[in-house]
Amino acid sequence: MPRDATNPHAPPARDRLAPFAEEMLARRQARGLRRRVVETRVLDGARVERRGRVLINFSGNDYLGLARDPRVVAAACRAVAEHGAGAGASRLVTGSHPPLHRLEERLAAFKGREEAVVFGSGYLANLGTLTALVGAEDAILIDELAHSCLFAGARLTGARIEVFRHNDTDDLDRRLRLVRPGVRHAWIVTEGVFSMDGDRAPLAEIAGIARHHAAFLHLDDAHGTGVLADGRGSAAAAGIRPEVAMGTLSKALGAGGGFVAVGRSVAELVRNRAWGFVYTTGLPPAAAAAALAAIEIVEREPERCRRPLELARRFTRRLGLSDAQSAIVPLHIGDAHRAVAAQAALERAGFLVVAIRPPTVPAGTARLRVSFSAAHACEDVDALAEAIARAGIPVPSEGPQARKRR
Ligand SMILES: *Cc1c(COP(=O)(O)O)cnc(C)c1O
Repeated sequence: MPRDATNPHAPPARDRLAPFAEEMLARRQARGLRRRVVETRVLDGARVERRGRVLINFSGNDYLGLARDPRVVAAACRAVAEHGAGAGASRLVTGSHPPLHRLEERLAAFKGREEAVVFGSGYLANLGTLTALVGAEDAILIDELAHSCLFAGARLTGARIEVFRHNDTDDLDRRLRLVRPGVRHAWIVTEGVFSMDGDRAPLAEIAGIARHHAAFLHLDDAHGTGVLADGRGSAAAAGIRPEVAMGTLSKALGAGGGFVAVGRSVAELVRNRAWGFVYTTGLPPAAAAAALAAIEIVEREPERCRRPLELARRFTRRLGLSDAQSAIVPLHIGDAHRAVAAQAALERAGFLVVAIRPPTVPAGTARLRVSFSAAHACEDVDALAEAIARAGIPVPSEGPQARKRR
């Protein structure tokens, strides 16, 4: 035994895991894919401070500027004072605080469903709901550009997975026809607004295909909620009702947590079977109170909800791009090193527009993802458009380039 094994003052032993970590990191670095966490102080809905500099933030998901809204902040503070900082236990034990129940009632009404179930994050809401409702005897048809947590949830279910071409309803229909006879249930899993592309799924058509094949629809609307149809989201905009309508409390609603809006018995099954609901501590009551205050604002201020899309369209018109469909506009660059260089150029000009690289997006499709908030002024948007031109960042004239398959 080494002499100092019991000496608490001995220098720490060599980290035997370090060589592995260093080699993996070096590989990422060489491909321009190494990521770094940068301390960032959020000053208001439109500005952040990084490395001692104030930047106009075009990378957040606080689409309505509600994370800093005094009414939302005050609701969170009151809830901390009344219910404490943390939930203290799982929802099924003692962690189901009153603000979580008020929020679920309000979310259900807001989404026009019987019930809503709130989770610790949007990520968990997808993982939990998919694993609760889908099994190995089922098939999942998932859009190739769906969010990482939808793929993770789909794999966890053990179901047969069919990846269909992005927003391609012919491909979806063809695959569904092939797999449908051999499975108990078929699920279509897609997003209302795609998080890294900003385009929207053809939901009316997809819902028609689902009905035709007796399939169910799980719709992730993390980026449509609060922004489309005066805040009610993509399903309301398309006039459809997915079996599972998922959303997050952490983007337009400015708080934290996720939810699904579903029918009554489905909600009860989710509360019984979703590991990500049962075996994790409940959402902090303050996050629920903040989200509830945010929904009240969304319902009272439809003009606020229209603002991010208006600003995104102002931007796409200035750059000669096709009209924005959501609060997200990608500027496709392709090479990861060049995307990072473009981010750095804009940062020098006073703007934060983070480069998005694989594996978040398919290989060879690195981009700048520009997102708009009701907290931005028109002048902020115009200044960004000018800075992009001045930095010589290429702007495709025909909208997003063709994407590679995952
Ligand atoms: C952000 C995001 C999530 C996860 O939501 P969180 O609340 O951040 O965990 C899920 N789906 C999509 C499409 C997202 O963009």
